[in-house]
Amino acid sequence: MSTITKYEVTDFETFHNVIDNKLTSTSKTRRAVDPSTEKELGDVPVSTQEDVDSAVAAAQAAFPSWRDLSQDDRAAYLSAFVDAIDAHQQQFAELLGKEAGKPPQAVGIELFLLSNQIREIIKFRLTEEEIENTDVRSIMLRHVPIGVGVGIIPWNFPMLLGIIKLVSALLVGNTFIWKPSPFSPYTALKLGELGAQIFPKGVFQVLSGGEDLGPMLTAHPGVGKISFTGSVATGKKIAQACAPTLKRFTLELGGNDVAIVLPDADLAATVPKIATLAYLHSGQVCFAIKRIYVHEDIYDAFLAAFVDFVKTLKSGGPADAEAALGPIQNSMQYAKLLDMYDQVSKQGWKSLTDSRIVAEEQFGPIVPLLKWSDEEDVLKRANASLMGLGGSVWSKDVKRAERLTRRLEAGTVWVNSHFEVGPQVGFGGHKHSGIGVESGIGGLKGWCNPQAVWVRN
Ligand code: NAD
Repeated sequence: MSTITKYEVTDFETFHNVIDNKLTSTSKTRRAVDPSTEKELGDVPVSTQEDVDSAVAAAQAAFPSWRDLSQDDRAAYLSAFVDAIDAHQQQFAELLGKEAGKPPQAVGIELFLLSNQIREIIKFRLTEEEIENTDVRSIMLRHVPIGVGVGIIPWNFPMLLGIIKLVSALLVGNTFIWKPSPFSPYTALKLGELGAQIFPKGVFQVLSGGEDLGPMLTAHPGVGKISFTGSVATGKKIAQACAPTLKRFTLELGGNDVAIVLPDADLAATVPKIATLAYLHSGQVCFAIKRIYVHEDIYDAFLAAFVDFVKTLKSGGPADAEAALGPIQNSMQYAKLLDMYDQVSKQGWKSLTDSRIVAEEQFGPIVPLLKWSDEEDVLKRANASLMGLGGSVWSKDVKRAERLTRRLEAGTVWVNSHFEVGPQVGFGGHKHSGIGVESGIGGLKGWCNPQAVWVRN
């Protein structure tokens, strides 16, 4: 590992691709918009097929020696990387606030989660499993890295969601190319710049571009795995694009999470939590609560307390330390939300069961509150969604709530909580919410091919 002890990026104003540890420019550039001010931010590269080919070639060349390092050595590089990120926290916070439209509180959460995820994930080690060991033979199961990995990232958590992929891929011995969303490419490019001072050439690269960049990467025969986080529609396109070259893929897609509130729930404790978890990042969170089913006995009281609480949530931009909520990240998403909101008022608030706001992922600060009276019926309505990311049940009777959560068709379920995720265990979606898991040991194995080793004595 390099003997440099201090890694530093001083310029957070100009942006380059990072290919083979070099900062490179493209003839064409583009700009994303700060959603709080609607002003254009700095120029970023628009990568071409040539840039993709160069990055994949560098990643392929770097793979054998990176793979052959020990997990401890690779973890040491990643440890230096997270220290360097933390040392630039102020600069990253400012840039993240601008590109994602996050007020300081939301930026703080993302940066804390990011640092914590890296520090915890790099403690994991994939070990060989002894399946059989007799006098005549042994059978071992090991996990070997796939090769060149690509992470395709959405705009709602531009740093955190890429970091989980990067760290998991690298720790187990893959090389990695990060493709940020065109709506929020800035922090990723600076992470790449910092990484170029730490990792060997070709191990971690970042390419920014337009709408054609994702398809160029998913089609490339030199890429072994795509790890994608984003919408269901794009996830389906990625699965199709991976088929001709039989790339491995992990898909972390949309959600339409339910919170089911039982009649005995403690409203004073429950309402602020559910409202916060529904409106977090203005609802632009995959695991945000997107449908709230409240028992009819407490529906009116819940609704009144919910509205009172939501009125206290202050909205504002990256400079507003007191703001809990920021703007909608981009005009495309804003138009979609306005259309949904319009439909809800046209339909009338009382007939929400079949409306788009219940059936689809809204991904914004519009949340339907629905009434229920029968346990089997509410479970049926909860599971009627094509999505299956998360779900929660809220009650003082923890045993009853747990029994119900276990019947939700979702990858992560909670009692009296929601959106609690951590590196202890991988997260992923059922049904249209995804394939595979990220984070935890499950996430590490997703970056590997299993290999069975049979040895006859
Ligand atoms: P999106 O699908 O529009 O874009 C995601 C990424 O895919 C971007 O980088 C985009 O440039 C790229 N992309 C678009 N078309 C592509 C193609 N044909 N081939 C390859 N790449 C392509 O999603 P978004 O609007 O950025 O993000 C919001 C969605 O992400 C929501 O549905 C949300 O629920 C989901 N999400 C899921 C999770 C999760 O962990 N399950 C986390 C965050 C967000």
